[in-house]
Parts: sequence; structure tokens; C-alpha cells
Amino acid sequence: MRSSVKLLTVFRIPVEINYSWLIIFGLVLSTLAANFSADFPGLSGPVHWLLAFLTAILFFVSILAHELSHAVVALRAGLPIHGITLFIFGGVAQLGEEPENPGVELRMALAGPAMSFLLAALFYVLGQIMMQLGAPLYLAKIALYLLTINVLLGVFNLLPGFPLDGGRVLRALLWQLTGNLRRATGIAAFGGKALAVTLMLAGIFLFFRSYYFNGLWYIFIGFFLLEAADASYRQVALKKLLSGVRVGQIMTQNVITVPADLPLSRLVEDYFFRFRFAAFPVVADDRLIGLLTFHAIKEIERERWSAVTAREAMIPITTRLTIDRHAELTTALARLAASGSGRLLVMEGDKLIGILSQRDIMSLFEYKAEVDK
Ligand SMILES: [Zn+2]
Repeated sequence: MRSSVKLLTVFRIPVEINYSWLIIFGLVLSTLAANFSADFPGLSGPVHWLLAFLTAILFFVSILAHELSHAVVALRAGLPIHGITLFIFGGVAQLGEEPENPGVELRMALAGPAMSFLLAALFYVLGQIMMQLGAPLYLAKIALYLLTINVLLGVFNLLPGFPLDGGRVLRALLWQLTGNLRRATGIAAFGGKALAVTLMLAGIFLFFRSYYFNGLWYIFIGFFLLEAADASYRQVALKKLLSGVRVGQIMTQNVITVPADLPLSRLVEDYFFRFRFAAFPVVADDRLIGLLTFHAIKEIERERWSAVTAREAMIPITTRLTIDRHAELTTALARLAASGSGRLLVMEGDKLIGILSQRDIMSLFEYKAEVDK
């Protein structure tokens, strides 16, 4: 399931927002509107919301600028950036590869908070200028909010828990010290979990002291950070264990294909029930033309199964669905995540020679992790 939607493209980098960001946007908007209404009772309700909206949008732009500065440093170091996803407490620049040395990691990690502090300084100066020029007080208030928000963004992201920027700084230093990326990530991710648990405990404490809103807020952020710390450690461990393994080494050979013009009713009886695979490659005139998944069949009403053929229900073949037998497993994993079908068709030239499922990779990972402890 995709939990993000694409929003825009900056410097050819796609920017996505995670759905959690919509929650924070709503929360920020309503909190700001309440604050504006308390501070400027003379203004009308819609004006409070308008000011809140303007501030929230600039908040969003601040986070984006923070993430883009990470991305720009990464791009200049020659690291591919697949995109930026804005999360609840900031964002994540999706690196195509891990940085090749601690120095790059360090510069990349520091670029974001540096941008946040720069923006804070900018909004401070802007606020001062507006005060001097006698601009309406609510405009100066917007500048003050953005000053505060950017300082908080900079400080929060510098906390030493991976995958926050501070955690990346910690990881870079440990990496430099030990020369072992996986171990450094392990320790920095432990920092992230410890930080997450501390935030959640603080949240529970605040909640029981009747600071419901702040309490829930801390618990929420802590929970999110805990997940992120865990996921990013697993990702690094996974990449390390799988690197150097080729698709051809672990694929399932002797693939059973299905003819394109067979109706679904026959396919279910003669193939799915019999061989119990979740998907079959579809072949017409000895040519691979698609992948038929049981999931796709289930989407079609049972009464129509005798009228619909494999060709009509399959996912047509694209480069997203296939992989060369010599490709690395880490490449296969990235493609699997993008294809969403849970499996890739392994090719040698234009000949189908095997099938590789996400489960094949995960079970290899589990075995290797067992041995590598
Ligand atoms: Zn950052």
C-alpha cells in the first residue's frame, strides 16, 4: 500500500507527502487559527484562518527547504536521490545508495538543520524590519511563528537518534571511528529508539498532568520515530547482507506459464489450485506477455470467470515487472517495491528463465541474518 502522494517536482526531485503530513497540517492549522483568534480578537474568523493558512504553508515550505538542502548536498556528492517524502516531523530524502564515506554523510546530515537555522535568522530579520516599518502586528506574528518553528525543526532534527539528522551525524562519527557502517547504524538506531521511548514516556507524563494536547503530540512523534528507527536499521542490515548476491542465484527455476487465451475458470482449477502459486507468467505464441496474479482474479466476479481470459486479467509486461538474471538483489528489492506485484520475472535476454518473489529475498535474508549474528 502506498502511504504517500506525489505533490510536486523540484530540481527534478519528486516530492511526496505522507498521509501523516495531512494530519499535522490540520493540527498546525487549527492550533494557529486558535492562536491568531486569541491574539487578535479584533479580526474576523475567516481572517484568523487565512493567517493560519499562510503560516502553515510557510511552515511546509520551511520543511521542504530543509529536505531540499539535504538532497542538494547528496546530489553534489554524486548520490542519486529517488525523492523526498514529507513526514509528520519533517521529511526523509530517499537515498538511492548509502553515502560511501562518513564525510559525505556528515555534510549531508548537517545541511538540513543549517538551512532551518538560516531560515530562522531570515524570519527574525524580516520580523524586525516589519516592526520598524510599522507593518500590522499580525504580519510580525507570522514571522515570529516561523522563526520559532524553524529553530524547533533545527533542534529537533539534531537530536542524536537515527534516522533524524543528529542520528546521522552520530552514525557518521561512529562509522569514522569503527569503520563498520552496520554497527554504527545499529548504535545510532538504538539512540533513535531510546529517544522515541523517552518522548512517549514524557507524553504519557504530560497527559496525566492534564496537558492532553502536548502529551498526545509527544506520544505521536515518539511512536513515529520508533518505527522509522527500526525500519531504517533493517534497511541498512538488509542491503549489507544481500549485497553481491545475484537474482539468478536464488530465483525459482522451471517456471510454469499459462496460455493467454484460457478462461479464468480453467486457470483457477488447472493452475492456481493445482500448483498453488500466487501468480503465473502469461505466454502467447511462445512470447511472454504478462503476469496473472490470483489477486487480480479475485477482483473479478466469479460468474464472469468463464468469460474472461488470462490476457484480459493480467498485468501487461513492462520493464518494471522483469529483471535481468545478473542484477543484484538490492536492485531487485527496489524494483519489487516499485512494481507492487510482489514478484519479478527473471529474464535472460528476452527469454523467461525464472521468477523471484519478495518472499524468496526475505527468507534468504532471515537465513543470512541467522548465520551472520
Ligand atoms: Zn533533516
